[in-house]
Amino acid sequence: MEHHRVIIAGGGPGGLGVAATLEGWHPRFEGGYEFPSPDVQKLARQHERKPLALDLHELLEKGHRPIEFFRMRHHPVQDALPLDEWTLKFSKRDRVDWLMLTTDGPGGIWNNVPREQLTLGPAHWMELAHYPIAKFYEQTGRERDLNALVHRSDLVPYYQACAEELGLSGHIRTGVRVTGIQPAPDVYSKRESASEESGREDPGARFIVDTVDEVSGEQSAYSCDYLVFAVGPRSSVRKLRVVGVDRDYVSLAYTHPDDYPGERVLVVGGGRSADWAAQELHDDGRTVVYAMRQKSEAHLKLIYNSQYLPYYARWAEILSGGQERMGLLYETQVTGFGSGGLVSIGTPEGPVQVQVDHVVIEIGGDPDYSLLGAYGRLTFHAKRDNFRFQLMQMVVDQATFESVDIPGLYPAGYTAQGTGLSVIGFHAGCFLIAGDILRKLGEV
Ligand SMILES: Cc1cc2nc3c(=O)[nH]c(=O)nc-3n(C[C@H](O)[C@H](O)[C@H](O)COP(=O)(O)OP(=O)(O)OC[C@H]3O[C@@H](n4cnc5c(N)ncnc54)[C@H](O)[C@@H]3O)c2cc1C
Repeated sequence: MEHHRVIIAGGGPGGLGVAATLEGWHPRFEGGYEFPSPDVQKLARQHERKPLALDLHELLEKGHRPIEFFRMRHHPVQDALPLDEWTLKFSKRDRVDWLMLTTDGPGGIWNNVPREQLTLGPAHWMELAHYPIAKFYEQTGRERDLNALVHRSDLVPYYQACAEELGLSGHIRTGVRVTGIQPAPDVYSKRESASEESGREDPGARFIVDTVDEVSGEQSAYSCDYLVFAVGPRSSVRKLRVVGVDRDYVSLAYTHPDDYPGERVLVVGGGRSADWAAQELHDDGRTVVYAMRQKSEAHLKLIYNSQYLPYYARWAEILSGGQERMGLLYETQVTGFGSGGLVSIGTPEGPVQVQVDHVVIEIGGDPDYSLLGAYGRLTFHAKRDNFRFQLMQMVVDQATFESVDIPGLYPAGYTAQGTGLSVIGFHAGCFLIAGDILRKLGEV
């Protein structure tokens, strides 16, 4: 069985940040930085050349959030800092043995979002600190505003460039689906190693990771000592369990108006992804029926709270116009897809039927915690935020992001409790995770 020190499941921004750090790109603090707390400032100065070596429980005990230690250096102010003003720098050290197993290539879910998708926040909020997006724009001749939203066609190449520039690509296996993660049997746990003699933690293989190759169908198993669980917030796509969902006029994800023939389209959803689909189809000249379970107040609140985004300003325009081609059906539930595009919908006024040429279902997903089914009941924290993302996060040690239920397993991205639901909110977690692993291996 192929063994690695660390296996990272998932190639999105969450997994990539940990990979870059384990590859040897270690942060350091430099220049005239200032933390708001004198306690933190003192520790930062003491450890500025090797902050990964610091056990961040020390900060936790003093009442500070360890993730902020790195996040504040990466994003000390609201706007993007010019590169020559960064106080977070990187030194290249030896790599530790890691392997990434992932279905999509670098960038994770961004490989699958609608073709014209823009981010909710500015470019520099989406970046890995190890390879600033300003540098990518410069190196690829893109003249872009770092404080502007990013188009998917810039973001996916950015994450691909991260993998190339940071030397990660050779250790990323794409098209590989992890199908299960289990405790390694004793025979693997008793693996001898030189570092055991040196008194450092070396638990031997803790995990068996089962995979399937998405093209050939070939099944494999790997073992590892540490596992980074970075499969993303939508790795288990929600299913609409109604009759006829497999009809050929029903699509289970939205991509671009050109992919949906016909004039009348029903969009089923109600979150940001469905909003995007309904608006883009409407602005392409289609007649849209938009069915959602929530009440109108909840939807309108999201629209009016998001007016800083051009595509939500557009929603306000659509709503204040005649809405001749946008029919909003609130508090409704699709109950079946019949032949010839006839869709049955339950509404507060009773059942109705609408005839459409195409249906787009965008009802989101959840992290695929079933992959950890072998570990029994896990401890979760229910997270909600103003951006309308919501999910169950794994409860973790806030200084290391190690799961409280599964020693050696680190949820990355925003499946870990204590992160915000955005890349700027979770990226700094990669330093907590990699730092803990490196300290346990005696590599920092
Ligand atoms: C339409 C849309 C717009 C968004 N806009 C923003 C935004 O503006 N700003 C922001 O910060 N966030 C935004 N997000 C949230 C997005 O989730 C984050 O940007 C980010 O991609 C999360 O990173 P991640 O690494 O945790 O997960 P993901 O990006 O989801 O990556 C995880 C990857 O893991 C892989 N994977 C999943 N299951 C398995 C498995 N079983 N085996 C192997 N590999 C697997 C897949 O390749 C998957 O893509 C948006 C999301 C969507 C859908």
